[in-house]
Amino acid sequence: MSQFEPTPGERSLAELSPSALESFAETVRGGVVTPGDPSYEDARTVWNGLVNRYPAVIVRCSGVADVVETVGFAREHDLDLAVRGGGHNVAGSAVCDGGVVVDLSELDGVRVDREHQTVRVGGGATLGDVDRETQLFGLATPLGVVSKTGVGGLTLNGGVGHLRRKHGLALDALESVDVVTADGTVHTANPDRNADLFWAIRGGGGNFGVVTSLEYALYEVGPEVLGLFVWYDAADASAAFDTFREYADDAPHESSVIALYAYVPELEEFPRDRWGDPAVVFLGCYAGDPADGETEFDALRSVETPIVDLSGRLPYTGLQSMLDPDYPDGRHYYWKSIYVDECSPEVVDLLVEYGADSPSSLSTVDVWHLGGAISEVEKDATAFWQRDRPYMVTFEANWDDPTANDENVAWVRDGIADLAALDVASGGYGNFAGFLEDPARNVYGDNYDRLVEVKRRHDPENLFHLNTNVDPA
Ligand SMILES: Cc1cc2nc3c(=O)[nH]c(=O)nc-3n(C[C@H](O)[C@H](O)[C@H](O)COP(=O)(O)OP(=O)(O)OC[C@H]3O[C@@H](n4cnc5c(N)ncnc54)[C@H](O)[C@@H]3O)c2cc1C
Repeated sequence: MSQFEPTPGERSLAELSPSALESFAETVRGGVVTPGDPSYEDARTVWNGLVNRYPAVIVRCSGVADVVETVGFAREHDLDLAVRGGGHNVAGSAVCDGGVVVDLSELDGVRVDREHQTVRVGGGATLGDVDRETQLFGLATPLGVVSKTGVGGLTLNGGVGHLRRKHGLALDALESVDVVTADGTVHTANPDRNADLFWAIRGGGGNFGVVTSLEYALYEVGPEVLGLFVWYDAADASAAFDTFREYADDAPHESSVIALYAYVPELEEFPRDRWGDPAVVFLGCYAGDPADGETEFDALRSVETPIVDLSGRLPYTGLQSMLDPDYPDGRHYYWKSIYVDECSPEVVDLLVEYGADSPSSLSTVDVWHLGGAISEVEKDATAFWQRDRPYMVTFEANWDDPTANDENVAWVRDGIADLAALDVASGGYGNFAGFLEDPARNVYGDNYDRLVEVKRRHDPENLFHLNTNVDPA
């Protein structure tokens, strides 16, 4: 697109009658941002610098009524509708070319109910917003591992974090949601009301409507937890992964560990003479009393002499934001995932081979130990299908050089394809799903047909289709 050509947002806006836009803007209390407005550039920008889309109308919703109006406006004018929670999806599905964006970022309120040990969270809140409030009372709900991520996208597709083996997925802690469906109706969905919608929302992603608030169960966590963060030379990869496998086989549910192939960052906490060296890292948390866990990670901390061992007690909120600086806004990102039934030597060889060949030293290959509370829920109890997989492998390409886009994307795709060729690997996680190019059944498995039924009831025209789509047709 040359700088003189109209953008998709400008073109689409030009087709709307000014009076239609004006009367819509009068019905909305939040800001309505269109191309040319001073805040347009900021409003259309998402976390992944690879994403550059031009919506026609962005609505900074101030409440549920704004969401209802915006959904109706998009439907009436036959425009694509994107939903923005925290804006952190790698695929950039929070924005669309030429369509309407329901921007929920102002719906970020958090209220803890101490009596019932629950927290009510706005659909545009971030994980950091939630942890900050719940930790005032020594409570937490299971979310993810980077505080700037949005609760909306993370929870609706699963939500794996440092508490996953003890307390399950983020969606397992959900007790109730408020959701605006495609016809503009506001529903409360929980086990007793609109149970089909509640089932579908827990794992079916953004397919069923705009979730304006979420209520989660809270558990006693922190304020201090025991964190694991130990770095070994990549030459010790084989011994490190052997230890990881043995440890994972009978780890307690309190313990959730990720093994990563990474490169030593240029940060003060790391020995300067090792900066840039390839490494194998264990990152995790013991989500019980830190005193009980003091020796829990001994085996993982003594594989060989580490490059550095930063493990120890720390505030839960510190653990939850520890990785934030690694994922700045505007960098280029492309991430994909696949589940594996065993962390077999074949799998490890592949991970190490790809880790060593990564085009960017900011990239990582991660093995998440799952199981525990996640696999104690039946596979069809919620729409989240992949519960019985003990490990998930994610390839995270992170890079700054815009001329290196193709090789970084290819690195991830080739790595996932090579793993997929092994008998033990299949499926994919909806929150680490590249540019959403894979078939929906890859994520939803055998729950897909039931998702289609619920979709037909609540979104027969597929208004909410900018996601890993459940196609009502
Ligand atoms: C730095 C970083 C760290 C991450 N760490 C983890 C992790 O530890 N664990 C994990 O499980 N995932 C993790 N993820 C993946 C993350 O869960 C997804 O990227 C998720 O989509 C982000 O949600 P969001 O609301 O910020 O995204 P957005 O880009 O705003 O939304 C993505 C999509 O989700 C849907 N959506 C979002 N909010 C709503 C809503 N309120 N109502 C209806 N639909 C909605 C829409 O379809 C939207 O297009 C991480 C991502 C990043 C960028």
